[in-house]
Amino acid sequence: MKILRGDLQHFEGPQVFRVTLFDIGINDLGNPGTEVEIQLDVHQHGDDLLLQGTLQTDLILTCDRCLGKASLPIQGAFAVWLVSTLRPDLQTGADDILVLPPTQQEVDLSGPLMETIYVELPQKLLCQDDCKGLCPTCGADLNNQSCGCVTEEFDERWAGLKAIKQKLRE
Ligand SMILES: [Zn+2]
Ligand SMILES: [Zn+2]
Repeated sequence: MKILRGDLQHFEGPQVFRVTLFDIGINDLGNPGTEVEIQLDVHQHGDDLLLQGTLQTDLILTCDRCLGKASLPIQGAFAVWLVSTLRPDLQTGADDILVLPPTQQEVDLSGPLMETIYVELPQKLLCQDDCKGLCPTCGADLNNQSCGCVTEEFDERWAGLKAIKQKLRE
């Protein structure tokens, strides 16, 4: 997602941008055409610009248990310093820094925006908290049907007892 430096300098209050995942360089999170709403505000600090914003989107991804659709609403915040050169006095903490030479007009915010989405992704995504998953025997989606396969469930709680029984037998 590219913005002209000149446009950034003329913000009067926060502005809303509607782009797609594709526009910020994301092709591997469901449909690249998924809308991302970005609210962006600009503050001038001397020659530097501080870009602060939030973004939100609703990703449609795949459930890790049943392989069905799982929606994932995402909300995140970002802050990016736009500077012309890296200086030792820059103390921006955890914020991102984008170096933009004075001759360059285009500011590409894709990197920081992409990061803001990726850090919000969970380790494991489920379509619903109690997704029943697929039957390991026949592959049926157990959320929609019970397949009748007899699967012997191994209960962790009995593992100790089983070990003792084994010992007694030996
Ligand atoms: Zn599921
Ligand atoms: Zn089954």
